[in-house]
Amino acid sequence: MATVKRETHLKENPYDVARAQLHRVADAFGIDESLVHVLERCKKGVVVSIPTRMDDGRIEVFEGYRVQHNVTRGPSKGGIRYHPDVTLDEVRALAMWMTWKCALTGLPFGGAKGGIACDPKSMSKAELERMTRRYASEIVNEIGPEIDIPAPDVNTNGETMAWLFDTYSMNKGHPVLGVVTGKPLDIGGSHGRNEATARGCLFACQRALLRGTVPGLETVQGAHVAVQGFGNAGSIAAQLFQEAGARIVAVSDSGGGIHLEKGLDVPTLIAHKAKTGAVAGFAGRAISNPELLTLECDILVPAALENQIRQDNVATVRARFICEAANGPITPAADHILFERGIPVLPDILANSGGVCVSYFEWVQNNENEQWDVEGVNSKLRTKMERATDTVINKQAEMGAKSKASAIDLRTAALLVAIERVAHVAVERGIWP
Ligand code: NAD
Repeated sequence: MATVKRETHLKENPYDVARAQLHRVADAFGIDESLVHVLERCKKGVVVSIPTRMDDGRIEVFEGYRVQHNVTRGPSKGGIRYHPDVTLDEVRALAMWMTWKCALTGLPFGGAKGGIACDPKSMSKAELERMTRRYASEIVNEIGPEIDIPAPDVNTNGETMAWLFDTYSMNKGHPVLGVVTGKPLDIGGSHGRNEATARGCLFACQRALLRGTVPGLETVQGAHVAVQGFGNAGSIAAQLFQEAGARIVAVSDSGGGIHLEKGLDVPTLIAHKAKTGAVAGFAGRAISNPELLTLECDILVPAALENQIRQDNVATVRARFICEAANGPITPAADHILFERGIPVLPDILANSGGVCVSYFEWVQNNENEQWDVEGVNSKLRTKMERATDTVINKQAEMGAKSKASAIDLRTAALLVAIERVAHVAVERGIWP
């Protein structure tokens, strides 16, 4: 197996975190114990070995995963991640969060996730293509438009999805557009999918501010925003928040960050990153990733990886509001402290659900042999995001109105809505046989 020795970002096991969240909500709201036993487990998971011929002739063997958490509400859906730290438990956690995300946004999907433990930055395009195609062949019987539909995640993109689509279609003997989403536009991709996670995050954030989530901050206009992670979710979020009138005061990627209080010019920064491969070196004060999280700002957007804000560093967070573009950036212990400190968190299963919403639109377009225009996609996305945000805020208000003791944070409200929806259908369908 290919082993990569480096410090992992996973300070806490994400699957333990995801299960702890489920249990906290289930215990607090009396969700049936036997149902919780079902929901805390993943329905299916495969571990595959992926022998890959490298450019120098060596065969390297990578380990890959595909996990389906729950399919009660429909076929499972979830991205594929390439990263040295990927573990089975990380993929399980991400799959569980996908179940809640799809339920919260009202999509007819369950949750899944996939990943390969590899260092994509050290691999050539040809190596990545061979690894992807072998992975796709190994999971060919696990995925399908009515079974489980992958999409891009960390270090994967439209090109990766094109290879997956092609490999699956070659195995089946005919093109199967609906097997993956996040495809390039000319092979069944959807307008607006590339920007969807970031755009959805902006829509949800705007709605939450309008609804009074952060006292004294009703709009992103003029807000000082710091973004951790400058990939698909982070760089486009920075751009869209800036276009909406926010001032982007700091960004970072895995190589470090930059801080400029008067505001960074995001399009020029994106061009700089495209040219040099990093945000470092751009005009501004060089900062570390941990420092970015401590900056005084109105809105902090974690858009990188899990476990970034934890018990050991949460006291240093000085943002007024946190919008989780990334999955799982805040641990439960840190969540609790942020709630006590009065810093609201727009949780991942809501704030980054724009990606899966437009993936769903792509899947519908593929099934109908249609391609919608970008205005139509963005308007449907706005409706979904605002509706889901309202649902979460209303649930929080409903609980808070009961008594001071029953006040809950937005994550608990979002999880409660999602878990109740999945539980309801599970009971309706019953247990087979
Ligand atoms: P990406 O690979 O495009 O970008 C990841 C970025 O994070 C890169 O800029 C990388 O340098 C940076 N990064 C990595 N480690 C870091 C660290 N320790 N500190 C700061 N930056 C670091 O991935 P993405 O698709 O933008 O995904 C980012 C997050 O958003 C993930 O949690 C992912 O699950 C979530 N997400 C993505 C989508 C999507 O559609 N792409 C949808 C929903 C959620």
